[in-house]
Amino acid sequence: MHIVHLSLTNFRNYRHLELSLPPHLVVIQGDNAQGKTNLLEAIHVLATTKSHRASSDRELVHQAATQEDLPFTRLFAEVQKARGTIKVEVILRLERALPGEAFVAPPSAMPVRKRIRVNGVPRRSIDLVGQVNVVIFSAQDIDIITGTPTLCRRYLDLVNSQTDSRYLRSLQRYHKVIVQRNHLLKLLQQRQAQPEQLEFWDRELVESGSYLIMQRQHLVRTLNKLAQEIHRELSSGTERLEIVYLPSVGKEEVQLAEIESHFRQALDQTRRREVAQGMTLVGPHRDNLRFQANEADMSRYGSRGQQRTIALSLKLAEAKYIHTQVGDSPILLLDDVLSELDRGRRHHLLDAISSFQQVLITAVELNYFEPSFLAQAAQFQVRQGNIEKG
Ligand code: ATP
Ligand code: MG
Repeated sequence: MHIVHLSLTNFRNYRHLELSLPPHLVVIQGDNAQGKTNLLEAIHVLATTKSHRASSDRELVHQAATQEDLPFTRLFAEVQKARGTIKVEVILRLERALPGEAFVAPPSAMPVRKRIRVNGVPRRSIDLVGQVNVVIFSAQDIDIITGTPTLCRRYLDLVNSQTDSRYLRSLQRYHKVIVQRNHLLKLLQQRQAQPEQLEFWDRELVESGSYLIMQRQHLVRTLNKLAQEIHRELSSGTERLEIVYLPSVGKEEVQLAEIESHFRQALDQTRRREVAQGMTLVGPHRDNLRFQANEADMSRYGSRGQQRTIALSLKLAEAKYIHTQVGDSPILLLDDVLSELDRGRRHHLLDAISSFQQVLITAVELNYFEPSFLAQAAQFQVRQGNIEKG
């Protein structure tokens, strides 16, 4: 698939942008703080409804727009897919006053309302995710290798949600169940509820959670195979990469029934502690990942360069995985990653990505690209929230 046209209004530092894009390789060059990352972020929002870096949707609204009477941000893209074109649209509206309230909120406190349309028809977020598939490469990918379990889970959720709508539904359900169940556990802790009331929430937790575990297991196994091969090449045959899924319950099961039964057992065993602490202690919200090279845990023993290479192998594996899962080439977004790599790795990366249908690469300098690569690429220049063909 590839983006044919992108239109942004009041998104970050883009006041108004109309950008037609060709398929294949697109290089976007710009100095620091001109809007390179913002552009890729906009595409990420259109694909997943969420930013890959903002902590709140409010950040996405152009600061000058927040002073206007009806502040809004609009993102729109027309995307050519293997089976026809699709138009996706995300609108964020800042509400100055809540309905029925005279109080006028300052910009920093204005609630954000998100509206989504697919082919002009209003839809829920869940219906947009997976329509346009993207894989984003950024310097922060290294945090998945070194970082907290939260980032690992968020990563697995993002990939799975893009390729499996049941996964996204189960995930949303699971999060709701955790909130309700934790609330009940707190009441039990204070002896304000009956233990039997847990049964319903246990069933719901096991049902939605086991599906997450099964799909995460499948994803990690597949990514591991793909990344292993890529990593062997990137490390010139010296490193054997192993990505290990560390589920909070169960081990290597593949059958849903098996996972469910282990999950239920784990709940039975931890019930007393859960009540004492007033929260759910086992389940996929406690999962983790481990990255090993030649048996060593890379979060502790990996050199910076090693971790960076593993992140790259993981992302290339993800792109391949999505391609086979959805039967269409995902759009690759590379945010200034070339400057971080040595010449050999850069060459391998550029070689590996050129088989995808559309690749958007941002860079501060063009001299990281090989001339033969640049000759094949369309070039654009970004300057203060404007983009021109270069
Ligand atoms: P670098 O090379 O440093 O990574 P970049 O081109 O990727 O730079 P961006 O992260 O895209 O830069 O940011 C471009 C500019 O957008 C920055 O100056 C930033 O302050 C500005 N910006 C971010 N959010 C908003 C917003 N909500 N309203 C207006 N400007 C914003
Ligand atoms: Mg940037």
